[in-house]
Amino acid sequence: MRNFERSIDAYKEAVDLMPGGVNSPVRAFRSVEMDPIFMERGKGSKIYDVDGNEYIDYVLSWGPLILGHADDRVVEQLKKVTEMGTSFGAPTKIENELAQLVIDRVPSIEMVRMVNSGTEATMSALRVARGYTGRNKILKFEGNYHGHGDSLLIKAGSGVATLGLPDSPGVPKGIAENTITVPFNDLESFQYAIDRFGDDLAAVIVEPVAGNMGVVPPKDDFLKEVRRITEENGTVLIFDEVMTGFRVGYNCAQGHFGITPDLTCLGKVIGGGLPVGAYGGKREIMEKVAPTGAIYQAGTLSGNPLAMTAGYETLSALDEASYEEINKKVDRLIEGFSQAAEKYDIPFTVNRAGSMVGFFFNDDDVYNFDTASASDLDLFAKYYRGMIQEGVFLPPSQFEGLFLSTAHTDEDIERTIAAAEKVFSEIK
Ligand code: PMP
Repeated sequence: MRNFERSIDAYKEAVDLMPGGVNSPVRAFRSVEMDPIFMERGKGSKIYDVDGNEYIDYVLSWGPLILGHADDRVVEQLKKVTEMGTSFGAPTKIENELAQLVIDRVPSIEMVRMVNSGTEATMSALRVARGYTGRNKILKFEGNYHGHGDSLLIKAGSGVATLGLPDSPGVPKGIAENTITVPFNDLESFQYAIDRFGDDLAAVIVEPVAGNMGVVPPKDDFLKEVRRITEENGTVLIFDEVMTGFRVGYNCAQGHFGITPDLTCLGKVIGGGLPVGAYGGKREIMEKVAPTGAIYQAGTLSGNPLAMTAGYETLSALDEASYEEINKKVDRLIEGFSQAAEKYDIPFTVNRAGSMVGFFFNDDDVYNFDTASASDLDLFAKYYRGMIQEGVFLPPSQFEGLFLSTAHTDEDIERTIAAAEKVFSEIK
């Protein structure tokens, strides 16, 4: 058994200092009935805890680290930039460079605004959609998570689904009333909502591949129809690509599926492990943002040189071949896990989009929040704890996907599959 003595001590200290001892709820490991593991360092595909245990990391800071931990190219540039000053509150050329890269790669983005998190990106995009259309309501899909802004913390996935809190106390009723939710992948309900509320519907926001109820890809025509219907209705379509952006493919999920929204939210990979978010889209809409337009949004540390550098170096290191390479490793991981599950008769369903992978302890198809929730959470928790003992660090919730990086080796994948075989044989 691994020793977690120092983690336990650190956690005892932390619970008096921060709610649940953490700065973000899923880090508390509640749904897998463990105390949190405190991490110390990471390099490539590996992460090390304060007790010196090594893990192959499939959390990757919940998605951003597509090059793995402490990539040499990123670290070297960050050191240089740090010595030159970390924030000026005035424009810098690196902001132009990252903006240009984003505009070149993301089909819907003609102009972009950098912020500091995915939450800021989605909150800002909603304001812009409302300001641009003069309408009030927004529509989101059940089990999609778009950060913790008031309008969006309604039937959200991620930590909220994990904790079983469909709505959060503190979200005013008046705000919640302006958010309509319909099941993901359900065009009939979507059309019904449009018929009923369409006149006052400013925006539809969607994760093009849902990544916060496990990984749930869109059904065949779902995104295409959502695009067609929103266009007809004069509603701004927002793709929340905070997780899928530069993860599902070189041109994000919108490039992968060939569907262009009006606005796109980004985060995670775009910051290469530093706090960055962004929203952008059609020039006509983005020009309504201050100071060219009247819709206000600002940020003291937005576009700071450290974050821009990490993002720029990360995106620059990726080309189409990088994605193909990661995807091959994902293919093998899925093959190995599926065979092991079959061998030990474990109920198992795999969903996948690029290097976002969802393993569900469920025999049936998972295509929305209800079907994701039908997974065997006790089995997941046992599997999770077993994998930790085997040195594999996975997201501690059935409602989160796992990620791979360019730093994961074939050996990592084979070791992970061997660990899964062992754990499946123990928990069946
Ligand atoms: N949108 C999506 C799709 C996300 O997955 C997340 C975070 N997991 C967010 C928004 C919020 O981003 P952040 O945690 O950076 O605020």
